[in-house]
Amino acid sequence: MYDFSYHRAGSVADASSKLKAAEDGKLVAGGMTLIPTLKQRLAQPSDLIDLGGINDLAGIKADGSGVTIGAMTTHGAVATSKDVKSAIPALAHLAGEIGDPQVRHRGTIGGSIANNDPAADYPAACIGLGATIVTSKREIAADEFFKGLFETALADDEIVTAVRFPKPKRAAYMKFPNPASRYALVGVFVAETGNGMRVAVTGAGQNGVFRVKAMEDALGKSFAADAVANISVPDGDLNSDIHASAEYRAHLITVMAKRAVAAAE
Ligand SMILES: Cc1cc2nc3c(=O)[nH]c(=O)nc-3n(C[C@H](O)[C@H](O)[C@H](O)COP(=O)(O)OP(=O)(O)OC[C@H]3O[C@@H](n4cnc5c(N)ncnc54)[C@H](O)[C@@H]3O)c2cc1C
Repeated sequence: MYDFSYHRAGSVADASSKLKAAEDGKLVAGGMTLIPTLKQRLAQPSDLIDLGGINDLAGIKADGSGVTIGAMTTHGAVATSKDVKSAIPALAHLAGEIGDPQVRHRGTIGGSIANNDPAADYPAACIGLGATIVTSKREIAADEFFKGLFETALADDEIVTAVRFPKPKRAAYMKFPNPASRYALVGVFVAETGNGMRVAVTGAGQNGVFRVKAMEDALGKSFAADAVANISVPDGDLNSDIHASAEYRAHLITVMAKRAVAAAE
C-alpha cells in the first residue's frame, strides 16, 4: 500500500469539499473493493475520504411507491430489511446473495454501483427496476448511470447518496454465481414495472450490465418462462474468461431468465 492521507467526513458537503481539495482523492465506503486494490498497489490516491461517519447516508426509507436506500447501507441491511422484503422481495434476495457474510456486512450499495464491476449484482437491480441514482449534485436514471466496465456517469467529485427503487408489479433475480467469490457469472433481473417489462443482465456483457429487448417484448405479450425459453443473446459481445466462455454465458442468460420469470410468475 502506498502512503495516503486519511480523512473522516462528517457530512456529504464535508466529503465533497475534502474530495475537491485533494490532489487525487478517493472515497471509501465499505472498502471491500478499494482496500484490496490499495493493498495490491493498483491505485495510489493522495487522500482517502471515509464516508463511514455520515449517519444520514445509511438507512432505508419506504413509502407506497417503493424504497430509497442510502448509499452507505450494507448489503446485509438490505437483505434483512422488512421494508425491502415487503416492497421488493427480489431486491432483498439479490442483496442476500452478494459475496459472503463478511462482504455483506461491510459492502455498501453506493460503493457497489459507483464501482460498476461487470459481475456485480446491484447494477442488474437498478436497471431491472428502473431505479434512480441520487447524488450530491443531481438525480440520474439508472439507464444513464452505468456507462461501461467500471465506468459510470459520476463526475470525479460526485458522491452517490441514495438509490430510489420503484415498487414493481412483480420481479425476480436469478444468478449463476462464481462458486469462489459469488460474483455473477450471469445474473438476470426480470421485472414487470409501471413502465413495462425490464430484463437486465449482469456478469456477461463486455460493457457491463445490459437489457435484453427481445425478452422484454416477449414478456410484454406473455409473462411466462416459455416466452423467453427460445430467445438467446448473441455471444459476440459477451465476456469470455477463465471462469466461463462467451457461449456458456449466452446459454446461462436464457436459463437464468427462464428461472427468474418462473420465480416472478
Ligand atoms: C470476496 C468478495 C466477494 C464479493 N462478491 C460479490 C458478489 O457476489 N456480488 C457483488 O455484487 N459484489 C460482490 N463483491 C463486491 C462487494 O459487494 C462491494 O459491494 C464492493 O466491493 C463495493 O462496495 P464497498 O462499499 O466495499 O465500496 P469501496 O470498496 O469502499 O469503494 C468502491 C469504489 O466506489 C467508490 N465509492 C464508494 N462509495 C461511493 C459513493 N457513495 N459515491 C461515489 N463513489 C463511491 C470508491 O471511491 C471506490 O472507487 C464482493 C467483494 C469481495 C471482496
